[in-house]
Amino acid sequence: MNSKPMKDPLELLDIASVLTDEEREIQATVAKFLADRVRPHIGEWFENAHFARELAPELGKLGVLGMHLEGYGCAGTNAVSYGLACLELEAADSGFRSFVSVQGSLSMFSIWKWGSEEQKQEWLPRLAAGEAIGCFGLTETDFGSNPSGMRTRAVRDGDDWILNGSKMWITNGGIADVATVWAQTEDGIRGFLVPRGTPGFTTQDIKQKMSLRASITSELYFDNVRLPDAARLPLAEGLRGPLSCLNEARFGILFGAVGAARDCIQTAIEYADSRVQFDKPISAFQLTQKKLADMSVSLGNAALLALHLGRLKDQHRIRPEQISVGKLNNVREAIAIARECRTVLGANGISLEYSPLRHANNLESVLTYEGTSEMHTLVVGQTITGYPAFR
Ligand code: FAD
Repeated sequence: MNSKPMKDPLELLDIASVLTDEEREIQATVAKFLADRVRPHIGEWFENAHFARELAPELGKLGVLGMHLEGYGCAGTNAVSYGLACLELEAADSGFRSFVSVQGSLSMFSIWKWGSEEQKQEWLPRLAAGEAIGCFGLTETDFGSNPSGMRTRAVRDGDDWILNGSKMWITNGGIADVATVWAQTEDGIRGFLVPRGTPGFTTQDIKQKMSLRASITSELYFDNVRLPDAARLPLAEGLRGPLSCLNEARFGILFGAVGAARDCIQTAIEYADSRVQFDKPISAFQLTQKKLADMSVSLGNAALLALHLGRLKDQHRIRPEQISVGKLNNVREAIAIARECRTVLGANGISLEYSPLRHANNLESVLTYEGTSEMHTLVVGQTITGYPAFR
């Protein structure tokens, strides 16, 4: 005698019961948009390495671009709502969550937090509406985990700055209307807003990716780019500037990873219910149930961790190392879940018709960007022991 399989593994712990009505509503609205506009096409977009740029204004209308920021056309929701939107976006595809994270938490947040009033007025309303696209250039070919060594340099020339160098692995780079670029100056690291079309600023998209294929990743080149001082983010001094933005984006990731994992488990539960071998649905075998049960337990833990950190953030008392705990745990668990779900689907698991391997491949990038899992381990290790072990 069997009852119906569970549709959403997060129901196991009734995670929704600890959300407010408004949070549930925002989550449901984002999920509905993705079900209509993204899910039917995402396999094809991933295969063709296509980013559906035309969805940017629709995401703007939905209110998810810079949604946790106040003013300038941003929705100004709480952090948990922003996290839940990321969860749903990444359940569809990490590429879409990456687009929204980079736009809202890296590009917009850098301007919102460190920019002048003129810069905010010029860019934030258009970025919030999805009429303009932003990117964030910190990583360089030779400086990833250790951005303090960056070679991109801005030098004073009268009232202007001359920017030279390059950035690597930049999400949205090739389509961005404005790039937030971090560069060495004689006063340390500073941020600059470089609009698309500025003479000497060019981009090249990175091809042959096996991960985040429905997202654009590019190199940025700066060849004697002349910028007025008004292009400098006046309040950002040192690495604190970019690191504050990364913390915002990592917060979205630790929710997003829960979404990717949930989607994989949902797919596996459904598949295991319908796939018959040895005259039984494979979900009736103990080994399959152990996989599904273990993964659902770990998903529930990840979701509760994300919510706990979201509540801390809404109380303005979250610490960077706590975000490291969340990113480290939730991405690590999500990638393990995605791979295990792939096994439940057998050969079908390698087809783009099903989501687990696409999620697993996407999560390879998520494990690496915004601080690798090793870097977050070292952050947590330092907090526990008091010893920095980065060098
Ligand atoms: P490395 O720093 O060279 O690390 C290689 C390996 O060595 C890793 O396993 C790392 O953990 C390990 N390692 C390094 N140092 C130590 C140490 N001290 N102790 C132990 N282990 C160590 N960057 C941006 O600025 N903007 C973006 O929009 C952006 N988008 C991205 C999109 C994608 C799809 C990807 C893949 C990357 C993106 N990145 C972006 C870059 C990303 O943030 C970097 O790749 C990341 O910081 C790691 O740098 P790296 O690749 O140079 O690896």
